[in-house]
Amino acid sequence: MPSPDEQADNLPLLLHATHDEPIYRLEAILHDIIKHSPEGRKIASEWLLGAKSEAKYKPVVPSSTTPGASALPIKHESISEPKGKEPISPRIENCIYCLEDFDVTQNSETSCRYHVEHDIVDAEFFQEEIAAGIDVDNDDHRLAWPDKFYYPCCGRDLIDEQCQIGWHKAADPGDRPRKRFTRTEVI
Ligand SMILES: [Zn+2]
Ligand SMILES: [Zn+2]
Repeated sequence: MPSPDEQADNLPLLLHATHDEPIYRLEAILHDIIKHSPEGRKIASEWLLGAKSEAKYKPVVPSSTTPGASALPIKHESISEPKGKEPISPRIENCIYCLEDFDVTQNSETSCRYHVEHDIVDAEFFQEEIAAGIDVDNDDHRLAWPDKFYYPCCGRDLIDEQCQIGWHKAADPGDRPRKRFTRTEVI
């Protein structure tokens, strides 16, 4: 059985090992720590849990808005509820559009940038490689020729700005396992 001292010696090794682990493994490890270690739960709470009123999401435009009035700025009324009583919610969510993790307290109308479709290779530019059977649809080629891959949604390449800009959106809790969930499905 390893003594506590031996475990402490593992620390640099353990920290280094986290670099090579895929996200889903780290997530599973984190869940394990939260479940089994009160100290771990405390640390995780400090990182992950924030007051609900800090969360920023796209303001809902009233349905009665007349056509043409949508250009008007939307006023954000600050909620002046006393601190300490607010329900706790996760600070970090995963965005269903850009698929990145985001801080719900830092969300804004320009936070999320993404394309609607996946980039595809410029087959004309790489026709010799493709004819020779060389696989060009990989990260190395994207890095070397970022302007030779383009997004069908807008025709822009990897260097250009993403065509979609807006608020990050977290999946609804019930939708988490799948991106588009149809309510007609009976479990
Ligand atoms: Zn696009
Ligand atoms: Zn996003």
